[in-house]
Amino acid sequence: MNNRKASCLYIKEDICNMSVADNLKQIQDSLPNHVTLVAVSKTHTVDHIMNAYHEGQRDFGENKVQELTSKAEVIPKDVRWHLIGHLQTNKVKYVAGFVHMIHAIDSLKLLKEVNKRAAKSNRIIECLLQVHIAEEDTKFGLSHDECEGLLTDPLVSEMKNIRIKGLMGMATFTDDKVQVNREFAGLKKLFDELAQKHPNLEYWDPTVLSMGMSGDYPLAVEEGSNMVRVGSSIFGARDYN
Ligand SMILES: *Cc1c(COP(=O)(O)O)cnc(C)c1O
Repeated sequence: MNNRKASCLYIKEDICNMSVADNLKQIQDSLPNHVTLVAVSKTHTVDHIMNAYHEGQRDFGENKVQELTSKAEVIPKDVRWHLIGHLQTNKVKYVAGFVHMIHAIDSLKLLKEVNKRAAKSNRIIECLLQVHIAEEDTKFGLSHDECEGLLTDPLVSEMKNIRIKGLMGMATFTDDKVQVNREFAGLKKLFDELAQKHPNLEYWDPTVLSMGMSGDYPLAVEEGSNMVRVGSSIFGARDYN
């Protein structure tokens, strides 16, 4: 509690609270019912997360393991934590006991480790395969072929403690709507194909298509997303210092 008033001065606090609440409401109201809003709280304080929590928000996303675990310790346990960033194999153990969904599975090695750690915690962890859809090559993810290869890998069929719930992708950071649309539409197409082609894999339950961030979530929803990961439009700009 000690830093609470320092970051957001007493008198201003209501205003701070209100803007997170207002932003959240506005976005929630704009989303169709079948779309889950993951509030991306990375770099933002526990206070801000709690503002959103008090508005009824329960799905939160973080991209760093350390930040996620320290926040999860102090935030009510009914929050569903989504790990949305690139995950290193050696850090899986820190989140396996509580994380709700891991969005960025991009290798067999990582999936194996998630399965192993989930088993130790007696849990089944929901996972998404991250597909590389951006034309820029700075972002992580599997190609379409790699994605199907991982999904159908015989080793994966032996994993009892993971469920692959769908796919995740990040579009190119650009104002070119045609391009962003094309990238989202491509991921939706892959999702539908993989759902159709592999209807009977026990560990594959294709119900989640995670695409869309602050700058492009309306387009993503139009193209078939049912889970959007929105940070700055709810919590404001991030300060990485
Ligand atoms: C940070 C982040 C987001 C949210 O970004 P905003 O532009 O602030 O909405 C979504 N997805 C991933 C993977 C992220 O790392």
